[in-house]
Amino acid sequence: MRASQYFIPTMKEAPAEAEVPSHIYLLRAGYIRKLAAGIYEYLPLGLRVLRKIENIIRKHMDEAGALEVLLPILTPSELWQETGRWEVYGKELFRVQDRKGRWFALGPTHEETITDLVRKNIRSYKDLPKNFYQIQTKFRDEARPRYGLIRGREFIMKDAYSFDVSEEMAVKSYEIMKETYHKIFSELGLDFLMVEADVGAIGGKYSHEFVVKAANGEAHIVYCENCGYAANVEAAKYEFELDKLPPEEPKPLEKVYTPGVSSVEEVAKFLGVDPKKIVKTLVYILDDGSAVAVLIRGDRELNETKLINYFKALDAHLASSEELEKLGIVEGFVGPIGLDIPVYADISVKDLHNFVVGANEKDYHYINVNIPRDFEPVEFVDFSTAREGDPCPVCKSPLKETTGLEVGHIFLLGTKYSEAMKAYFVDKDGREKPIIMGCYGIGVSRLMAAAVEQNHDENGIIWPENIAPFKLQILALNTKDKNVMDIAENVYKKAKSKGIEVLFDDRDISPGAKFKDADLIGIPYRIVVGRGAKNGKVEFQKRANSEKKEIEIEKVDEILDELV
Ligand code: ATP
Ligand code: MG
Repeated sequence: MRASQYFIPTMKEAPAEAEVPSHIYLLRAGYIRKLAAGIYEYLPLGLRVLRKIENIIRKHMDEAGALEVLLPILTPSELWQETGRWEVYGKELFRVQDRKGRWFALGPTHEETITDLVRKNIRSYKDLPKNFYQIQTKFRDEARPRYGLIRGREFIMKDAYSFDVSEEMAVKSYEIMKETYHKIFSELGLDFLMVEADVGAIGGKYSHEFVVKAANGEAHIVYCENCGYAANVEAAKYEFELDKLPPEEPKPLEKVYTPGVSSVEEVAKFLGVDPKKIVKTLVYILDDGSAVAVLIRGDRELNETKLINYFKALDAHLASSEELEKLGIVEGFVGPIGLDIPVYADISVKDLHNFVVGANEKDYHYINVNIPRDFEPVEFVDFSTAREGDPCPVCKSPLKETTGLEVGHIFLLGTKYSEAMKAYFVDKDGREKPIIMGCYGIGVSRLMAAAVEQNHDENGIIWPENIAPFKLQILALNTKDKNVMDIAENVYKKAKSKGIEVLFDDRDISPGAKFKDADLIGIPYRIVVGRGAKNGKVEFQKRANSEKKEIEIEKVDEILDELV
């Protein structure tokens, strides 16, 4: 491809709203453009990368025996009603009406659609197992679309759904996908981790996320360098037994005046006690409007996902000042003693002695609180967010923490959708049973951004070879010099004839501008035809390191052969 005939609208500066490297560089290097919040256009270079990612995914899905389909984007609301998700999905679901007033959703995911297809067309155990997948545009009206392709409102996903006759077979399908995902992300050239994920209301151990390590990632992960355990902080079990304070003799309960001090740090400082002995009381409002109090040790953070799962709620939020007032609770001084709402405690509070809590009275705290003498929680539950230094739940070594981008998620669904939608099959024994399902997503467009987050420097993108838009770039530095152009044209023709994907920068612009653009665009290999041309030499460069090698023109063939 000749750059002079191509379309690579590079920019010196990215718009201010672009905050992370992938967003900045994909815009600046002319890969994408924004149409509206969370909605992007893929320009020719961007589309090339996207297609490469898709093809790697497709190859491995096909090899794993999954069958590609293409399901409609417009999905009738009746299907969503059947599973209850027309309500549950809330504002994230884009809803449209046809001319007759019938409602549809723009598919954010396709469990309902694929289950409908299967229930209408699969009857017998003989037709199973099946795994259907598609690569398609998805729509989600995200509350906070941001970071360019990382969190879009319109984005591209690979979604797959497996259908099996038994739990055992479903686990097999799940394991095949797990292996397939390892192959996919390895071939994409990314540094990734497979982590145990939050399983939500379903339970069980069959949910894993694939996370590309990146400084700006929204996923928080703990992992163990010793045994290889890795989990999302929401899924990681907190090993409180190893994090306990030494036992103490209970002292008499006392109410103390603590004027204007309410945060853990303030109270700890004011009373001169270890923050681990200050117990926070957090009031949450669940989706049904009920209020619960949750206690957690002052040095730990509560994890809302764990909370939501425990209460089987769809949603929960910290009570606002108004909500606290309505409940008659004193903000800043909440405590479990004499509270009118159910009190639960994180396991960090178990076996804690002589601790401090709010006294439910402005400017007062209780000290020397002890369970069960002074109050008793309904239950001790693991609500803690795992963090660096916590003991590994498997081998007890200290965990490390990192951030990353979730690029894939696999999940054993069980019969949630097949029962709700009556997707049954007739088994060998002649009995009707619900099909066991699994679902497997990959964020295709997010992957393009993740690759850049992980592979860039201060000058631009450094694509992993397998997903680079072109493998080789030829830079003709002085297009007015006939010798330079003849040599460059010749190298270009040769590269093309060898089947190398090559971008020939034949534009009549300054050498400086050409190098800047080349660094920004990030094509892995480069042949520069410049001053050396009159002595029969060109330069071979790699984008990843600034290493340069002068080579004789006669040797270009060898280099090109190596690239093939
Ligand atoms: P997240 O927690 O990031 O919102 P999710 O749990 O909603 O993700 P899934 O429903 O499992 O995501 O979707 C499968 C994959 O699609 C995710 O692993 C992610 O890579 C990608 N994805 C999800 N939401 C978006 C989005 N708004 N923009 C781009 N990619 C997305
Ligand atoms: Mg989401």
